[in-house]
Parts: sequence; structure tokens; C-alpha cells
Amino acid sequence: MEFIEFQPVFHTMMSDNALSEYADESKSRKFYTLMTHMLSVNESMNLTAIKEERAVILRHFVDSLTILSFLPKGARVADIGCGAGFPCLPIAICRPDLQILAVDSTEKRIRYVQETAELLGLRNLEARAMRAEEGAHGKYREAFDVCTARAVAALPILSELCMPYVRTGGKFIAMKAKKGEEEYTASLSGIRRLGGEPIAVHRILLRGEGEEDERLIIEVAKKSPTPGNLPRPYAKICKKPL
Ligand code: SAM
Repeated sequence: MEFIEFQPVFHTMMSDNALSEYADESKSRKFYTLMTHMLSVNESMNLTAIKEERAVILRHFVDSLTILSFLPKGARVADIGCGAGFPCLPIAICRPDLQILAVDSTEKRIRYVQETAELLGLRNLEARAMRAEEGAHGKYREAFDVCTARAVAALPILSELCMPYVRTGGKFIAMKAKKGEEEYTASLSGIRRLGGEPIAVHRILLRGEGEEDERLIIEVAKKSPTPGNLPRPYAKICKKPL
């Protein structure tokens, strides 16, 4: 797909999802570069199973941007388990005011995210290869206004990986598919042990190509510091979620 074909498709999908303010010429070009670069690197590296261009726009770009309204101006944001850069790369393109840390345990994906951020001229994104549960005991602990994650783990596990990064007064914003509802109920007591208080489950309709797909955005407030013994090693987190 050439840019001339990409632009109207991108613009329509952004407008259908109330995101047209982020679909100007300069941002559209960045998203086009991101799409072509990712699909080309994907031929030699396992980055994404979504290979069709319109699906990349909807299921990676627009989907990532559904959290924009939950990110306060100037916020420090951690994206845990960013994989090929979702949601961190799209939100970095749209919101130069944010300071974003992208975290993943896979070194080559983090190298790809860092190089892609440079290619796109994004100065607001830094990428670090580390396991989330280990990094949370170091300098990034409670250092973020918002911690988010998409498609990384079930909520009871994800909460233990993400909540320690959030400062008291900040938020954990989990991006989930429909089944997140059951996970939410199962994670409530664990979230409270981590210093959190669930605020709301927001239902988002992802609209595109004549279809609607439901997504959940789970919003949790950090009310008090996470106890120092959390997060535990990954095997323990999975074996016995809080
Ligand atoms: N967030 C991206 C997205 O929505 O497309 C990637 C999702 S991918 C299915 C999950 C990613 O989480 C993988 O890249 C994996 O390496 C990373 N991951 C899983 N557990 C992790 C952990 N404990 N610490 C850091 N990264 C982790």
C-alpha cells in the first residue's frame, strides 16, 4: 500500500474511533512509516501475527490509541511487555508530551522498538530489555504516573507485574479483550494487596471495516506503596496469583 492509499484509510479509521485530531499529515506519515517498517522487519523477525495492512491500522494502531484519554498531560508512562511496540509507539507518535518507558524481556524486540523510535524521530520513548518483575525492584519502582500493558498476561498476574511501577496517586491502566471481565473479579483482592483500588472497567468499541469489537480498559488507582516483597519471582506469581 502506498501512502496515497494509506492516508484515507487511516483517516477514516481514526475518525470512526474519535481520534481524528491525531490523523494530521505529519502523524499519518509517521504511522505509515511504522506500518511499512514493521511489516518489512516482520519478514525476518517474529514481531506480529497481523500482516494485513488495514488490520495493522485497526488492531495495532487504533487499538493502542484507545488509552490516550487515560493519560494525563506530561505523564511518565511505563508500557510493560511492549513486544513490537504496542501501545508505546502509537502513543509516543500522538503525544510528544508523554515520557514513555517501553519494557520487554526480549532483547531483540526492545532493540527493534528503540531503532523504530529513532527512525520516527520520537524523543519521548526509551526502551529497556528486562523482566518486569525484576525491574520493579530497581530504579523504576513507583516512578511512573501510569503503567499500562496490552496482551501480556491474565490480570491477576499482570497486576503484580505492573502495580509496583506506579507512584502513589498514579494509575494502572490494563488493556484487555472481553474476557478481561472474569479476570477483573479474580484480581480484586490482589490489586488491593499491591496498594491499588479498582476505579472502573471501561467498555470501548473498536470500530472499523464495518465491524465493532469490544475492548475493556481497566482503571486502577494506586492508593498506597506496594509492599517491598512484591513483585515475587515470575514462577511464584504464576503458581499462586495474589
Ligand atoms: N504489548 C504488545 C502487544 O500488545 O502487541 C506485545 C504483546 S506479546 C503477546 C507479550 C509480550 O510481553 C512479549 O513480547 C513478551 O516478551 C512480554 N513479556 C511477557 N512477560 C514479561 C515479563 N515478565 N517481563 C517483561 N516482558 C514480558
